[in-house]
Amino acid sequence: LRGVVAVDGPSGTGKSTVARRLAAEFDAEYLDTGAMYRAVTLAVLRAGVDPQDPDAVAEIAAVAELASGTDPEAPTIDLAGEDVSEEIRGPAVTLAVSPVSAVPAVREQLVGRQRQIIADALARTGGIVVEGRDIGTTVAPDAGLKVFLTATPEARAHRRAAQDNASGRRADVAETLADVRRRDTYDASRAVSPMRRAEDAVTVDTTELDIPGVLSELAALIKQ
Ligand code: C5P
Repeated sequence: LRGVVAVDGPSGTGKSTVARRLAAEFDAEYLDTGAMYRAVTLAVLRAGVDPQDPDAVAEIAAVAELASGTDPEAPTIDLAGEDVSEEIRGPAVTLAVSPVSAVPAVREQLVGRQRQIIADALARTGGIVVEGRDIGTTVAPDAGLKVFLTATPEARAHRRAAQDNASGRRADVAETLADVRRRDTYDASRAVSPMRRAEDAVTVDTTELDIPGVLSELAALIKQ
């Protein structure tokens, strides 16, 4: 795989699993931009700052020491030298991440870091799969392939709840559906780079597809 593959879409579409496996299959690197927004959110919570206070949140984002490991077999996210991969998936971060990621200064910070990580990967391995909400529209508008994954809210809530239960965080489908809808509304309506399908993105509806099904569609697009 040469260049950038952008994988955008809401949560519960299989985005992370698909993006990781795609990168592994094509010997490319992998970047989870959602993990970066989550790690900044964790820094905000640890500092005792109100996630709804944009100025205070921006100050935390400006000094947060993030490091993203881009190996698709073992992606990592460090905050000040500590691996926080597990903690950023917990309910406290999930609840606060949308308002934090809506702060324009936070996005400016993280988009800059993401572009640097992409440039480094292109210089090193020549290819990277980047997943998020605004990759095709904002972070890498020149990506060679842009994919937008969708699925019904119900299918997405089922997957999220199953994922959470599998990692030992007890989740209920109705509550997860409410959380999915809340984050969608927030992510799609923020003023700066809202979640959007890029005009030149290929939409793949994953409601009726399993992971291998989605992967084979994307692999076919890459080989085109
Ligand atoms: O992908 P994940 O569910 O981990 O993302 C967590 C949150 O981070 C999203 O709900 C969204 O608010 C934010 N995000 C974003 N832009 C991205 C990736 C994630 O605003 N590129």
